[in-house]
Amino acid sequence: MATPVMAIVGRPNVGKSTLFNKIVGERIAIVEDRPGITRDRIFAASEWSGNSFRIIDTGGLDFGEDDEIAGRIRAQVELAIDEANVIVFLVDGLTGLTSADEEIADHLRRSHKPVIVAVNKADHPGRLSHAYEFYQLGFGEALSISAEHGLGIGDLLDEIVNHFPRDQEEPTYAEDAIRIAIIGRPNVGKSSMINALLGEDRVLVSNIAGTTRDAIDTELTYAGNPYVLIDTAGVRKRGKVYEKTEKYSVLRALRAIERCDVAVLVIDGEQGIIEQDKHVVGYALEAGKALVIAVNKWDIVEKDHKTAQIFEKNLRSHFPFLSWAPVVFVSAKTGRRVSRVLELSSHVAEQHALRIQTSTVNTIVQEAVSLTPPPTDKGRRLKVLYATQVSVKPPTFAVFVNTPELMHFSYVRYLENQLRQSFGFEGTPIRILVRQRS
Ligand code: GDP
Ligand code: GDP
Repeated sequence: MATPVMAIVGRPNVGKSTLFNKIVGERIAIVEDRPGITRDRIFAASEWSGNSFRIIDTGGLDFGEDDEIAGRIRAQVELAIDEANVIVFLVDGLTGLTSADEEIADHLRRSHKPVIVAVNKADHPGRLSHAYEFYQLGFGEALSISAEHGLGIGDLLDEIVNHFPRDQEEPTYAEDAIRIAIIGRPNVGKSSMINALLGEDRVLVSNIAGTTRDAIDTELTYAGNPYVLIDTAGVRKRGKVYEKTEKYSVLRALRAIERCDVAVLVIDGEQGIIEQDKHVVGYALEAGKALVIAVNKWDIVEKDHKTAQIFEKNLRSHFPFLSWAPVVFVSAKTGRRVSRVLELSSHVAEQHALRIQTSTVNTIVQEAVSLTPPPTDKGRRLKVLYATQVSVKPPTFAVFVNTPELMHFSYVRYLENQLRQSFGFEGTPIRILVRQRS
């Protein structure tokens, strides 16, 4: 089930960022700083009484040239309507109801999304003379809060969580269908790739399943295998203001990544690799998804027999943490090798779900340890006692040791490489948990 999403909307200066920060607290900082991962604050994960959810940082979206405040508010509200399950409409209790608030309310009312009105800056409970005005917006009771002083936030969160859909309708697909998310920065050719895949002679597009109004997935069959392309509508541009922002496209990709088995990272072969490519793939990696890298627009790259090899070498040096991901050179325009993307997706999905017997894992790990024993640290030596695979998607191993503090990052890396050498795991991240054996 997809994680519910909440968005805060409201005119400038009502306290949206203050509320966002209050709810999210310190949580964002925790996940930062892992290799290959750049974190934008597009949305943050949070939790309240056992319910995980996400908050879109609508205030943090940069709407580019659309500088007019009215335009920015509209874009923000549209984004919230399209993407959120619950909307918190934040108003300013010190200034009272304004015509801008009424405009936002009109817009929100037409969306039929659950809306909670929160009257901010109620720093002194009972002294908010304006709070009653906001009842006339027609969204029911308006909750008084103080984002700055942390008052009423618990009640607001209770209300938010109450409005989350109980069972989000997830469409059902063939059980063995491989879910693919085509990801990449704008203009690399994602929608062309989807068109090419669906237009392939040998591809059978069986039907189109709607999840929500915006996320349209497409099922297809190739060489007898079922696949689902996640969020094909989202990839094809629809021309709303907010869709032009880079952060929005990352947000969209994130939600597709969450629902996929395999992420296909599309790179522009003509332009080469830029920083933004790393952002997008960082999320797939963090989510533990299988990965295929498709270098697109290969038709317009001037090349000889070595060009692909050189490109791949360069690409690998940009993505040292993705050495396990297969690379394919394609042209969405001519259709060349696009079906290979599906074949590779099947292969990496299999690797992603691979389960190795404990006895075999132990044999390999013990062999690895005797080949290169763990280094000593101040006279103490790490002992690797036992290893087992605890889960799949991605393959996750627990390695039990005498003293976890003695385990170095480089030794974990070494064990990972040994597991890869023995079992492949092509196209999938693997995780190693170091645990104390008591
Ligand atoms: P945004 O533009 O809606 O994101 O608003 P900000 O979060 O940037 O806040 C605008 C101003 O309102 C800032 O000066 C905040 O310090 C102030 N503010 C936010 N929440 C409260 C509150 O609960 N009480 C008071 N008195 N001021 C607040
Ligand atoms: P998206 O923003 O990632 O969905 O990218 P689009 O699919 O809209 O493609 C961006 C531009 O690149 C369009 O002008 C496409 O025609 C062009 N394009 C996409 N794939 C290829 C390709 O394989 N070869 C060439 N020459 N152009 C391509």
